Amino acid sequence: MSTAAPRGTRIAHIGIAIDSIERILPFYKDILGMPEVPLNDEDGARIVGLAAGESLVELLQPHVSDSPVGRFLSKRGPGVHHICFQVEDLDGTLDKCRRAGLRLIDEVPRIGAEGKRIAFLHPHSTAGVLVEFTEY
Ligand code: ZN
Repeated sequence: MSTAAPRGTRIAHIGIAIDSIERILPFYKDILGMPEVPLNDEDGARIVGLAAGESLVELLQPHVSDSPVGRFLSKRGPGVHHICFQVEDLDGTLDKCRRAGLRLIDEVPRIGAEGKRIAFLHPHSTAGVLVEFTEY
């Protein structure tokens, strides 16, 4: 149990689905001047992170069409794929969601692209937005 002061919920990253990272990268790097942050591939997608202060934009390019981001792209085209909130207590937050009747995609947290535990909620429960939680 940590004795540090609570840091609160914040936006960790916004995931953007795109069929070619190279095509959009100059907008974020050259025009907006956002530094690139190395991230691991995840869920069949190449991920490039770009820092906007404490938050990231994550560009998600699927390796194969039969992957979560690949299916999103073929159904809806490029665009905002998910929003990730960093929460103080991931397990406690998931419990609260469960008790509130929200639909979880990940009943048990798994390791995400930044090497931290993550879990996704189903967009049906959150106004059509795919929500990811990550811990500090
Ligand atoms: Zn994410």
